[in-house]
Amino acid sequence: MRVTDDRYNRDRLRLEIALRLIGHEARTQTIRRWTGLSDDRIRKLVRSYIRPGAGVRRHRGKSPQQVGFFLRGGSDDAHALAAMLLLFGVVPPRPAAARTPDGAPSPLPSLARGRQMCEAYETYRRVVPQARIDFEHAVFLAIALNAADQIRLRWCHSCDAANITEHSALRVPPCRACGAALRDTVTMGPDH
Ligand SMILES: [Zn+2]
Repeated sequence: MRVTDDRYNRDRLRLEIALRLIGHEARTQTIRRWTGLSDDRIRKLVRSYIRPGAGVRRHRGKSPQQVGFFLRGGSDDAHALAAMLLLFGVVPPRPAAARTPDGAPSPLPSLARGRQMCEAYETYRRVVPQARIDFEHAVFLAIALNAADQIRLRWCHSCDAANITEHSALRVPPCRACGAALRDTVTMGPDH
């Protein structure tokens, strides 16, 4: 019975997360990666649950791959979203925690992380009045901050605010909240 219950709960969670992702206009490949559902099953879900004219669009093509927006024009939005990603555990508070004990980056897309990702994104949409980051870009930000190879979080010495910074920047900018120096987390983790 126990196994059946677990399986039932897991299937239900999978469906719940998939529907939330569809509602956020996530691409099929994103839904597949985070829920493990097949493309065929996802297409059927979209057909059964999304009424034409419900305002949910389906995006095709490649997922976002440019981090520039988070550093420049969309920086305020990106920081609000990064705070939510931290709060809901999608992004670890320190880079070292993003790695498994054997040193490999943690596999981000999973059912549990999918739920945290939805919670973080939905909270971001509630607290930022004119939210400019769509769900696909939010997923991209979460993956980029976890990988920490293009952009990473650095913490302020003074106010402890999390700042999104370019990994390759020659000079680390000051804290965007108070102007104090940022901790260079590159030297903090045990794996560096
Ligand atoms: Zn600060």
